[in-house]
Amino acid sequence: MPEGHLIHRVADDHQIFVGATVKVRSPDGRFMFGAEELDSQTLQSVDAWGKHLLYQFKPKTLHIHLGLEGSIRFRKAHTLHEDQRARLLVQDERTGDSFLLYNPLHCELLSSFARKDLIRRLGPDLLRPDADPEITWTLMQRSQAGLGEFLLDQSCISGIGNIYRSEILFLLRMHPHRRAGSLTREEFDTLWRLAADLLEVGRHHNAIITASPKRLGKPREQMHRSERVLVYRKRECPDCGALLTVERIANRTAWFCERCQSG
Ligand SMILES: [Zn+2]
Repeated sequence: MPEGHLIHRVADDHQIFVGATVKVRSPDGRFMFGAEELDSQTLQSVDAWGKHLLYQFKPKTLHIHLGLEGSIRFRKAHTLHEDQRARLLVQDERTGDSFLLYNPLHCELLSSFARKDLIRRLGPDLLRPDADPEITWTLMQRSQAGLGEFLLDQSCISGIGNIYRSEILFLLRMHPHRRAGSLTREEFDTLWRLAADLLEVGRHHNAIITASPKRLGKPREQMHRSERVLVYRKRECPDCGALLTVERIANRTAWFCERCQSG
């Protein structure tokens, strides 16, 4: 599942479409009316919030959530073809560049009220400069959920997905069943900083990389795909060698080491 780093990366990359009058189509026909409404309008801004992409037109917002299966592909002008499997095609009329959207969980138009309501329901987004950790801290103190569940709750903290969850808790030596409300302020601050740093690395490299260059003795660019993460889909703990526990937590599979993550 695309996690927050990828969504922010898409929003960064799609800044090139801002200010463009765009051609909008729904090749698979499932977003036909929305596409008609947006066609020939000017894109005002592109923004990411957690796992949500928001393309502001006037007066409506195009809201995209990729869910588990969704993807977005960029096409240079000369490679354009209207792939009939795509839900959405947005083409810059100035340059001919375009992007295609496949298998999204959501592709819909929001009124300005609905846009505000969506953002209101989302917790602070670790990758946004305006993210307020106090909101998450307050929710955490009241929470009866385990950490593994809390970190995936997008209404408490936005942007962390399944892979980052396992990796962050491993790096912090925290057990996923530890009650979120039991963290000290210092532990919370460390968690917030680590999660924000890792997501920023992911956004920069366009890949989830939680292994540090120090640990592997090589820069992130040279890490093999299988070296980039520490516990996600691994068999053994990279630190103590014990078999990792694999368990469904909040409907997603989590990996953790019972021996190392006792905190
Ligand atoms: Zn271990």
